[in-house]
Amino acid sequence: MKSTIEFNVALDNLPVYQPGRPIEEVARELGIPAADIIKLASNENPLGPCPEAVTAVEQAARQMHLYPDGNAFYFKQKLAAHLGVDTANLILGNGSNELLEFVGHALLSPGADVVASEYCFAVYPIVSRLFGANFISVSAKNYGHDLPAMLKAITPKTKIVFVADPNNPTGTLAPRKDLEQLVNEVPPHVLLVIDQAYIEFMEDPFDLIPTVASGAKPNVILMRTFSKIYGLAGLRLGYGIGDRGLITKLEKIRQPFNINSIAQAAGLAALDATEYTRKARQVNSAGLRFYEAAFKTLSLEYVSSSGNFILVRVGNGQSVFDSMQRQGVIVRPMGGYKLPEWIRISVGTEQENQRCLAALKTALGQN
Ligand SMILES: *Cc1c(COP(=O)(O)O)cnc(C)c1O
Repeated sequence: MKSTIEFNVALDNLPVYQPGRPIEEVARELGIPAADIIKLASNENPLGPCPEAVTAVEQAARQMHLYPDGNAFYFKQKLAAHLGVDTANLILGNGSNELLEFVGHALLSPGADVVASEYCFAVYPIVSRLFGANFISVSAKNYGHDLPAMLKAITPKTKIVFVADPNNPTGTLAPRKDLEQLVNEVPPHVLLVIDQAYIEFMEDPFDLIPTVASGAKPNVILMRTFSKIYGLAGLRLGYGIGDRGLITKLEKIRQPFNINSIAQAAGLAALDATEYTRKARQVNSAGLRFYEAAFKTLSLEYVSSSGNFILVRVGNGQSVFDSMQRQGVIVRPMGGYKLPEWIRISVGTEQENQRCLAALKTALGQN
């Protein structure tokens, strides 16, 4: 029997997100033990999960027969205090990826325009097209977002502007004055999403929280995650910070139990992990310096990164990726981002970085 189901037409040409390859999958394919493989492909935290969260998860597991608190009362209270905002300024997501979908549900329909940058996070065009919106990609400048050009690309039909700052996969940071101008001049009919998944890796980031939480910019939302700085990518916990009116609208879309009880307990405990996050920043900046020095020695072009990963031009990105993978080092090829000559390497521990560099040199025939 042939199905005659009429699927949503948006699904016809919808791009599919290509995640970093899981260690177990590569181990099965290569027939080598998983323990011999390192993954530097998804910007995960090389220190492992923050220990405070691990302890909390073990305890929370004993209560997992109960539904979670749908409003995550204790976690939200503590997160609000940590950020210096009110709980009414916060919305929680099953990863910040879910929040990206919330704004799609809230604002997009066929005919709407979405503005983002060339080399932007792959989820933005996927969410936009899922809801039938036109995705307007503004040319990058030196691999980074050209925010003044993005401001000019806004039309009366534009519903959302997505900006990741620092950006993934390029690691670029927008000039502060450009970001200020965008926040100040974005028209009131547009929601400006500023995705700050990597902001905690920066020493002195531009703090937009007071601007959005005060209600001064009711059409700007900041998105953050516990996946990167707290090492909790597998748990799925992200949040948005915005004007309370905006948050109230988005809350209508959220499923009541989108944040499971284990994640709530882990997030609550992770907020105390100051020693772990300090170490994570330190290991990351040392790793970035290591790769930059190595790429200079190898005369490889790279993009200066404000994130926990670095983009480097290696020639044939896919074949370098394949060679490194055969050597047990998983990185990310960038063909899907229209950067076929580049790979993206997530910063690992010192040992992982050395092994990765050795594999890269072998792949390039340079050792
Ligand atoms: C990693 C990342 C996120 C975080 O995703 P989660 O769903 O919270 O794991 C969001 N935005 C960008 C640009 C990222 O690179």
